[in-house]
Amino acid sequence: MRIRFWGTRGSIPTPGPRTVRYGGNTACVEVRDASGALLVLDAGTGLRELGMAMLNGGAKGPFAVDLLLSHLHWDHIQGIPFFRPAYDPKSRLRIIGPKQSRTMKDLLGLGMDDPFFPVDIDDLPVQLKIDEMTDASDERVGPFRVRSATIFHPAPALAYRIEADGRSVVYATDTEDPMTGKKNPVIDLAMNADTLIHDAQFLPSDYKASWGHSTIDAAIDVAAKANVKRLVLYHHDPDRTDDALDHIGLQAQRTGRRKGFEVVVAREGLELEV
Ligand SMILES: [Zn+2]
Ligand SMILES: [Zn+2]
Repeated sequence: MRIRFWGTRGSIPTPGPRTVRYGGNTACVEVRDASGALLVLDAGTGLRELGMAMLNGGAKGPFAVDLLLSHLHWDHIQGIPFFRPAYDPKSRLRIIGPKQSRTMKDLLGLGMDDPFFPVDIDDLPVQLKIDEMTDASDERVGPFRVRSATIFHPAPALAYRIEADGRSVVYATDTEDPMTGKKNPVIDLAMNADTLIHDAQFLPSDYKASWGHSTIDAAIDVAAKANVKRLVLYHHDPDRTDDALDHIGLQAQRTGRRKGFEVVVAREGLELEV
């Protein structure tokens, strides 16, 4: 598998001179298996860049896109109306997100309803299918095996384990260690994974309890307990500058080496072989 980061920022896009190197777009990761099949993780503003790269990259449509949403906070869905392949009637887009009290289609549609956006979700030209997943699902999505776990966040949210080509990637963003004597559900989901992409929004000094995010130390702790080969620090705080992330990366890499796994700080444009 190959993964590429199109958005690494949490909460809100942060363009500007202080975030040039790690990027200001919100959550979006491209996953490809060996055959080139595409699975997208989250639809923050980075999704727009992915869509443009697909259209400008020489690959002729129509496209078949499977998109897994961790949850519906803005920084994970705002790219959908700006995803150019969604305006191609020959392309196919399947969106899967966590099941909740209202249907995923209703909820996603709200954000595109008049007067918030001029195109209703039902009027997107793409062949659109919207599905839901629950805790502990185990499904085929194209050539990918996808398993899910409910995580601790103020909105219904899922982490996903994706397997293809004999490799595994776990996507656990917007997750907080329960710290109530309960086991962190990400540990089992990520057990022995090749790559764990994990929320790392906070430092101990700016940690806000029950906001549903992790400190860098908590991400490292989950990676160690799950015995993963590589941890990717992701969903950077909007106030975190490039220089601060350089510093965080060096420290985390040192700790990771001691504990026996690689640590990478996610940045826009980063590509990793899994
Ligand atoms: Zn988020
Ligand atoms: Zn969130």
